[in-house]
This record gives sequence, C-alpha cells and structure tokens, in this order.
Amino acid sequence: MLDLLNLPGIKPVDMYKESKALIIVAVPETVEVPVCGDCNIPMHKHGTRKNKFSDTPLYMEPVRLEIQRPRFRCESCGKMAMPELSFLDDKRRATKRLVDVIRQQCLSMTFRALAEQTGVAVNTVKNIAHDLIDELAQTVRYETPVIMGIDEVNLAGGYRCVITNLATNNVFDMLEHRTQEHLKPFFRELPDKDKVEWVCTDMWRPFKRSFAQYLPNAKLVIDKFHVVKMASEALEEERKKYQSQLSKEQRIYVKKSIRWLTLKRPENLTPTEQKALQVVRQAIPELAVAYDFKESFFGIYDEPDKQKAQNAFEAWENTLPMQGLQSFRRLAKTVHNHHDDIFAYWDAPFPIINAYTEGLNGLIKMSNRLGRGYSYHIIRAKTLYSKEARKVGTGIRAGREKVEYGPHIPTLLKQAESGDLD
Ligand SMILES: [Zn+2]
Repeated sequence: MLDLLNLPGIKPVDMYKESKALIIVAVPETVEVPVCGDCNIPMHKHGTRKNKFSDTPLYMEPVRLEIQRPRFRCESCGKMAMPELSFLDDKRRATKRLVDVIRQQCLSMTFRALAEQTGVAVNTVKNIAHDLIDELAQTVRYETPVIMGIDEVNLAGGYRCVITNLATNNVFDMLEHRTQEHLKPFFRELPDKDKVEWVCTDMWRPFKRSFAQYLPNAKLVIDKFHVVKMASEALEEERKKYQSQLSKEQRIYVKKSIRWLTLKRPENLTPTEQKALQVVRQAIPELAVAYDFKESFFGIYDEPDKQKAQNAFEAWENTLPMQGLQSFRRLAKTVHNHHDDIFAYWDAPFPIINAYTEGLNGLIKMSNRLGRGYSYHIIRAKTLYSKEARKVGTGIRAGREKVEYGPHIPTLLKQAESGDLD
C-alpha cells in the first residue's frame, strides 16, 4: 500500500471508510524487543493493542489512524511496554501534526468548524486553543505605547476595557472589566511605564485614578469625541422638546429627519439639506438657539491654542441664557469638572484623539458575531493574537530589533467585515 501517511516508524496496511472519517490502519515498521529497565532482561510479547488517533485530513476528510502495536511484558516484574511513537500527542489522542494544524487555525476559525474539518471533538479544539492562549500570554509582548488610548466596549456580556496604541493604531491589550481592580494591576505590571506620555480616555474617573500613581510621565487628555458628543446629546434633549411643533407642511420641506439635520456638521450638509435646516430654524427658533450652542461648542476645538480655546469656552458659557437650555448648562458643568484634562488637548504636540472610537462600532459588530458561544477570554485572544493583524503591527526599531505593536486596528476591522475572525 502506498504510504500516504508519511509518519516515521509506521506503515499503512489497510484503509476503510466510516461515517465521518477515513480510517487508516497502520502498524509499526520494525519492532525491537524492549529490555525491562528495572530487571535488565528482554521482555516478552504479550498480545497487541489497538488505539485510534486523529490525524490531519486527507482528501478533505477527517482521518483516524488505527494503530496496532505489540505489547510486551517483563516476566520478572510484570511491567508492560509498547513501542513509542514520537509523532503522537498522547494527551490529545492525535498526531502532533494535527495538533499543530489546530493551533494554527483555532484563533481564526470557529471551534465547531475546525472540529468538523478535523474530526476531533469541539472540546479538544477548545483545550488546544486554551493551551495556545496561555503560551501566547507568556511569550507575546507588545511595545508599550507612548500615546495610550483607553476605551470601553460592550463585548461578550459586559463592559470591557480596550487599551490601544494611538500613535500606531494597534490594540495593545484588553482587560476583562474597566474597574480599578482590573485597571490597577494592569498599570502596576506594565513594562516600560515611564514610556507612556499621554493617556487618552473618556471621562470615566477610575481610568485616571488607576494609572495616575503608576505612570510617572503620563498626562491625561480627555478624548475630543467624548467631549463634543455631550454637545450633540444636549442638542438632542432640546430637539425632542420642540420637534412636535413643526406643522405638516413644514415637515414636507424637511425631508431628512430633524435629528439628522441638526447633528450633522454644517459643512457636511448638501445644499438641499442646508435649505431644510433653514426651514427648521425658522419654524422652531428655540431649536435654532440650541443648534447654535452645539455648533459653537464644537467650534472650541477649532481654536489654535489652549488660551484661545479656554476663552472660547468661557464666552460660550457666558452667552448661555439664564433660563432654559438645562442640558447645555449641565455640559458646562461637566467641562468645569474635567477642565484641565479636557484642555490638555492643546498641550499635546499634535492632536491626540481616540482613533479607536471610529473603529468601535466595527469591533462591536465583530464581537457580537464572535460572541455567540465564545467566552470573553477567547474573543480577547482572537482579537489580541490575530496573526494577520499582528503582521501589520510589526515594525523595525532603529537598529535591527523587531518590535511588535499589537494587532493593527484597520486590519482587524477588515477581518471583522469579511467574517475572517469567526
Ligand atoms: Zn522487569
């Protein structure tokens, strides 16, 4: 029989088909009579043993090896022995080469699909994946970001913490929860703590409390998107109050929803949308006022330096009416509460924004899809150790040393879109 197996020490002698696998019967090529290690005398043949092991698929079909090995017994002490086969992974009841294939595929395929393809149990795939993840956690290390983003994402049944490298656009790490109990150990154990110069997050207080004591050179800047988002939310509150005031005729001119017209930045409106906005402004003057406050708040970020930005905010706050616009008053209060960290935006050598925020929706979409049947730890591993995305995240430091920055976010998103991470 032609040796399709190409495994050292055994040869195929028969082959048959079972419902879900191709069974290849194999026997050892040569068998040397072993010597008992304790008694130092040759052992005696004592029947044969048949064991089944999974092997790499052949002709797209799962393969099971049925290996028949002679058993030996020491007549003096009763010890039993069988010829050793170096290509077997006894723990997994599979060939080592199959375990390798599963290791290579398990973070980029579903466990179920991989189990079906190889004929091993889903739990075996899962166990191999867990071993691999433990190994990766010990060996893979990403360069500590100089500009670090911290964000939250609702994933696998809870708010998780995603740590990113904002200079290189890579995921650096993921934490199970965004509480201080999870954040503090992360910052305490972080290598090259002094490297971190900027941390960009939202207004979630535990973030700052967690890193402040561990990162000696890090300054907090509150993410611009999270700040201006509050102005949009304030406008939304006002809009809901007034929307119903629009007459039927007026609604016809306002083809798009008022929400859309008022939330969009004016420079992004088409001429038709601009006209529609004019209709809304005339029909609902109160909403026009709120809209202008939203826009002038966004305008603060167009200021070229910190002093001008602070002045712009002060002017904005001073023009708020004494009555009404409570949502904008609350926004002003929040800005005061986080004043230094918000205006630190202008201290940075270049605008630091959580670019990750843009990708957030894509990642959520991906994680929701991955989420079915996967624990947070598997999703984390699939994200953090994605081979494709890590390739992009590799650079060469001055000199020859290869450094890894972590999985590249745009590549992860592309994979998410195409379903490659499933
Ligand atoms: Zn013996």
